[in-house]
Amino acid sequence: MRLYLQTIPFTPLAKVLRAGLLTALIVLPTSPSVTIAQSSAQFDIVLANGRVMDPESNLDAVRFIGIRNGKIAAISTRPLRGRTMIDAKGLVVAPGFIDLHSHGQDDENYRYKARDGVTTALEMEVGVSPVAAWYAQREGKSLINFGATVGHIPVKMAVMKDTGGFLPRDNALNRRSTPDEVRQVTDLIKQGLDEGALGIGFGINYVPTTTRAEVFDLFAVAAERGVANYVHVRHAGAVEPGSAIGALQEVLADAAGTGASLHVVHITSTCLRQTAICLSMIEGAALRGLDVTTEAYPYTATQTRLESAIYDEGWQERLGITFKDLQWVTTGERLTAETFARYRKEGGSVIGHSIPEEISRLAAANPRVMVASDGLIENRLGHPRGAGTFARVLGVYVREQKALSLMDAIRKMSLLPAQRLAKIVPAMRSKGRVKVGADADLTIFDPATVIDRATFEQPALFSEGIRHVLVGGVFVVRDEKLVEDAKPGKAVRRTNR
Ligand SMILES: [Zn+2]
Repeated sequence: MRLYLQTIPFTPLAKVLRAGLLTALIVLPTSPSVTIAQSSAQFDIVLANGRVMDPESNLDAVRFIGIRNGKIAAISTRPLRGRTMIDAKGLVVAPGFIDLHSHGQDDENYRYKARDGVTTALEMEVGVSPVAAWYAQREGKSLINFGATVGHIPVKMAVMKDTGGFLPRDNALNRRSTPDEVRQVTDLIKQGLDEGALGIGFGINYVPTTTRAEVFDLFAVAAERGVANYVHVRHAGAVEPGSAIGALQEVLADAAGTGASLHVVHITSTCLRQTAICLSMIEGAALRGLDVTTEAYPYTATQTRLESAIYDEGWQERLGITFKDLQWVTTGERLTAETFARYRKEGGSVIGHSIPEEISRLAAANPRVMVASDGLIENRLGHPRGAGTFARVLGVYVREQKALSLMDAIRKMSLLPAQRLAKIVPAMRSKGRVKVGADADLTIFDPATVIDRATFEQPALFSEGIRHVLVGGVFVVRDEKLVEDAKPGKAVRRTNR
């Protein structure tokens, strides 16, 4: 008996061999199919009878998946035998979700991510510094895969001796960098790239004294190194001067002027009611040859630090909200003019209910807009996006509202972010796909029940309906339970530096 693998047309032999399948394969030169000898058809894990959805090939059919040595070794219409058999009947087997914008980079956050179907969480916006130390802290200790850009914000805070934590609060906020400081920032960013950072992260809105020349020069560094810039742009909202549209024009122009790749983060919370025009600008730039992409989280509120520049004078007009639309994360209370002033002095996280539902739906429905959480849960407090982003898109926008197809949603959560990184991290070509040779980073969920449970009042609630999650062929979630002590997460790091 022969077991037939999923047809992989025109796959060059060398590529298949590189994928490590040499011992198991007999390739029939005239046939696009690949067969394996039965003697080697024993797998570590078999996912049986699942609805396999691969956003690259558009395969959407019931199959058996055989996993061996952390890789997908077979995709078959016929039964396969594995040491561990998982009945996936009625469940979708999708590539593990890749979250390009995940601030929570610790055990607590990785658990919420895994239960939301995320197998790779990347801190691309704020980024990190120093880069080598950040990777070293997580190596061999992480539930899911991790990675980061070198961050303009943390570098600038270090050089300017800002006393803030995650975001600046004084020196990097209030004064211009000296020419010598600008040089030091550039050197540290180059060092971060030398250490394997995945690009350069920017939050220009948080360091508003950063000049346009500084940003342009750093885009030129990214272009020279072949990496992308992941940017929270200079302004949010519609008030001119200082609109989101103007801010988007700045980075599109810098990308065009330097040749650098650009990824614009959380398009809805930046552009608000002008999200449609911002998406047209990005799409138009891409159609004309710029490498520019974007993302959104599926919620109607933002979260950031109240003491940050986002809430500088004029915020009500800019963001189209007022005190009662702000929710203090520690207590859940809505703010007043008085508590706003007090908490801003104290510092802390605040949720801003500023994104209209139709804007959230517009971005969720757009097949080009990646899904990314922007999430951060700290001691069970935070924004629900840190726990529920991916299940929410699948449950609310796909199943309940039918705003987009299930395959498009999966593509926005897996293949598109993998492709965003593939140019600089060739290993990403083995993620975001369900195909033979790909990493066995897989999310198996029930499309009829998958849903987020995290709310603004209770953000630390796991999603439901994400049945099993595998990272490199190792269960991190099994039967909707976290696997204690699993640490299969690997670094996603730039290697061709
Ligand atoms: Zn941001």
